Amino acid sequence: MRNQNVVVPDASKGIGITIAMALSKSLLSPFVPKLLPAAPDGCFTISRKMFSKKTETEGKTHSWVDSMRDSSPTRAKPTTSLSETEEKNTWIVNHPSALNMFEQIVNGSKGKQIVMFLDYDGTLSPIVEDPDRAFMTNEMREAVRDVGRYFPTAIVTGRCRDKVYSFVRLAGLYYAGSHGMDIKGPSKNSCRNKKDYQDVLFQPASEFLRMIDEVYNVLLERTKCIPGAKVEDNKFCISVHFRCVEEKMWATLVERVRLVLNGYPKLRLTQGRKVLEIRPTIKWDKGKALEFLLESLGYANSTDVLPVYIGDDRTDEDAFKVLRSRGQGLGILVSKVPKETNASYSLQEPTEASTLILLAKGFLFSFRC
Ligand SMILES: [Mg+2]
Repeated sequence: MRNQNVVVPDASKGIGITIAMALSKSLLSPFVPKLLPAAPDGCFTISRKMFSKKTETEGKTHSWVDSMRDSSPTRAKPTTSLSETEEKNTWIVNHPSALNMFEQIVNGSKGKQIVMFLDYDGTLSPIVEDPDRAFMTNEMREAVRDVGRYFPTAIVTGRCRDKVYSFVRLAGLYYAGSHGMDIKGPSKNSCRNKKDYQDVLFQPASEFLRMIDEVYNVLLERTKCIPGAKVEDNKFCISVHFRCVEEKMWATLVERVRLVLNGYPKLRLTQGRKVLEIRPTIKWDKGKALEFLLESLGYANSTDVLPVYIGDDRTDEDAFKVLRSRGQGLGILVSKVPKETNASYSLQEPTEASTLILLAKGFLFSFRC
């Protein structure tokens, strides 16, 4: 493992998501058998196997809802307890602000080729109620455009690649849509302008296109009666947004999604920030996309490259893990609250990401002139 390029503030913990499996009172009813056999005394019975299956299913649903709640706080707490303040302070010590540590980061980057990896939702744009209106600001676009002129820059997102391109609207960048399953961008030696734009294309899940399309239509139908639920076709994956769904309906939503997926064992359910994600079971994620792009750029085994990845949710952890395992690069989590993460640094919100990108462009480029 290489360590010479890593800029890490402190040894930090590995990620471990603890999912409570409390089998409390069910919020759901679709698992009550339609026909129960009557016992001789007139009571209905339920077999041990059926009971186990029901409680197991309920437990899984509850664990999903707990996980959704943990990663998607719906309201700010009016007060902060002493222990919460201590927890936040400890977290900040282990994951200091990338802005506050900027000088240290700059020093660690000297002589290295920076490659920027940027998540979109919650990183370049705020999380908004309507995912179709998650626009980035002009200031952020300018910052990304400027940094993209000096460093290879990739947008890595769960969104459909065409969709995120319609938000970013910058030629010359790499775009890794559908959690990295749809990669397009300039070739290594091409000038990064529109005229000389040469695509490199990698779509490891192309065989799933038809299945994804089918499941998308089924999910549209099965979730249409849940107010606020929004199903988004992201080409090689599907997002079910619950940012506008009342919390009391989350269990119903996740259960309907899981019931649909029971018929598609080659698809898996994961969770992002205020979104459920349906993806092919292939071993490909944002971390693999990061590795693929570094290899495409000729940096697969380079000790002189400094990948910088900025992201805000669990799907970005795969990329943070890759940086840790390479012993190389900077993982920066955008979050206002302490979270278990493999990132080394933190930023509070997208506006801070914009500031960091501008600083990176201004200061880091000056070292190369
Ligand atoms: Mg995000």
